[in-house]
Amino acid sequence: MADIKKLRALCNSPKFSESLPITLGENTWEEIVITCRKCGRVLPDEDVRANVSSLIPSVVSVEGVGACRSCKILIPVTIRFRIDGNTEYTQGGRWVKSLGVPIAFLPRISARISAWFKKCLVQG
Ligand SMILES: [Zn+2]
Repeated sequence: MADIKKLRALCNSPKFSESLPITLGENTWEEIVITCRKCGRVLPDEDVRANVSSLIPSVVSVEGVGACRSCKILIPVTIRFRIDGNTEYTQGGRWVKSLGVPIAFLPRISARISAWFKKCLVQG
């Protein structure tokens, strides 16, 4: 289950676009498109925030949140980039392995949000 407090805290993270491109070995991800699971809209740069870390050299982990202003929902963005070029992201709380470089992620989990939504996004 998505944790509202966690998602809310992630809104204060840097823009995900600032962490791009992500380079691992011979693979480079220059652009990651996050779409709203509800309306399919591509979320603009400023509405996708994420912390990018690499605990082991062959994997880059992304934990963040995207916000769809139209649907007023927060969308968890959890991705792992692997040195072999594979990308994994969570769907319904489970890791899904995908071959190649996906251009869109459609996380099933989303959380309804309330008054803090705008406040959360105004900054930055
Ligand atoms: Zn939407």
